[in-house]
Amino acid sequence: MRLGLFGGTFDPIHHGHLRSAEEVREAYALDEVRFVPCGVPPHRSGRPGAAAHHRLEMVRLAVADNPGLGVSDVEVTRPGASYSIDTVRHFAAGLDAKDDLYLILGLDAFLLLGSWKDWRGLLALTHVIVTSRPGSGDALPYEKIPIVVREAFCYDPVRSGFRNEFGKELLFKRLTDVSVSASAIRELLGKGKSIRHLVPAEVQRYVKEQHLYNEPTEC
Ligand code: ATP
Repeated sequence: MRLGLFGGTFDPIHHGHLRSAEEVREAYALDEVRFVPCGVPPHRSGRPGAAAHHRLEMVRLAVADNPGLGVSDVEVTRPGASYSIDTVRHFAAGLDAKDDLYLILGLDAFLLLGSWKDWRGLLALTHVIVTSRPGSGDALPYEKIPIVVREAFCYDPVRSGFRNEFGKELLFKRLTDVSVSASAIRELLGKGKSIRHLVPAEVQRYVKEQHLYNEPTEC
């Protein structure tokens, strides 16, 4: 089993997230990419726009028609701040020795990895796939990676990639640019504008039915 974990606020989930998961799943022959919406984000200033159960439900609706994508409520149901180390430990405990975990991180999130709770422990348990953000370039900007994180990996010439002392790989996936962000979507909704074709139709319907993001937000 090759399982990808894709964490985020998903406030709301949009086509940028979904395309990212699909391209990563295909590129690394993952059996599944599981979205893990956070309960209380530890690294985000301000509150999420929608309650955790709404964000979870929107992800459920968005992935329902794709057997290669799934969703986990592990962070939403866990009390306190959502730390990736707790989530990765949870999934690692349920896997066999031959299975592999792949943590999928947008480049913006990865560059902050050195500030995450027990990030060294995290790198012992999971491979990391860093994904491009629109405009971020074709390769991992090695010089921008915090030095402590950089030093945790060595270049492996046999596989033309980076690997740490636990044999876990650091991979970079250049994605098709889908220039959409959740904050831009919240802003549109706050102004009463359409979000059609930025999110799946089921998510758009849910946002409308539940009257989410009605108020203008600070972005
Ligand atoms: P916000 O605009 O509120 O910051 P967001 O759209 O960036 O939200 P998050 O839930 O914060 O969404 O992102 C979860 C993950 O998805 C992050 O790793 C982020 O880098 C990645 N991501 C977000 N939008 C895109 C996109 N358009 N293309 C590729 N990756 C994306």
